[in-house]
Amino acid sequence: MGSLKKVLVASSNPKKVREIEEILRPLGIEVVKPPRPLEVEEWANTFFGNAYLKAKAYYEAFGIPALADDSGLVVEALKPYPGVYSARFYSLEEFGKEEPVPSADAANVRKLLRALEGKTDRRAKFVSAVVLYAGEGKVLAAEGEVEGTIVGEPRGGGGFGYDPVFVPKGFEQTFAEMEPSLKHSLSHRGKALRRLAELLKNCDL
Ligand code: IMP
Repeated sequence: MGSLKKVLVASSNPKKVREIEEILRPLGIEVVKPPRPLEVEEWANTFFGNAYLKAKAYYEAFGIPALADDSGLVVEALKPYPGVYSARFYSLEEFGKEEPVPSADAANVRKLLRALEGKTDRRAKFVSAVVLYAGEGKVLAAEGEVEGTIVGEPRGGGGFGYDPVFVPKGFEQTFAEMEPSLKHSLSHRGKALRRLAELLKNCDL
């Protein structure tokens, strides 16, 4: 039976950190923020690879079991973009660069809508890979996905990233129009973290 009840969140994105806290708190896992942000080069070409790099780097810097989420939007008609490049999609040459104005999130959404102009296949999915690194050989990992479609115009002020243009299957609201608790019950991150919490319960970390 696992006894680990407190994890360091290996991220400097405040909106992502808040979501991780909101999802894990009801599961009895406390999230602590890092004393300072850490620059981690995400050189892997998979979500799991990058989550592992972040969790290990934060564990090694601060000495506390560290939890990382690496996530992104996989768009059927644009594969492999944005994918593992989701955070900096706006800055890539592919499909034309965008200025990060007024924010990187806004530029990413603008570029995505431009790249999908005239395309009828609007299928997409969010993917989250989560890794808990608690020392050499003490690693847990889980993944979650949510399928949906990309709408033509941004809607809603909640969430972050591509939320204003993503409508999950079976719903009409975008993630940015939903209450956070509804987003978490459906989202890639919610699914991945609930699976990880289940693994944690059944191991000896
Ligand atoms: P990461 O911090 O390297 O994992 O980058 C994740 C990027 O994927 C974010 O900057 C967002 O652009 C996108 N992303 C991941 N999860 C979500 C989500 O829940 N909603 C909207 N965008 C997301």
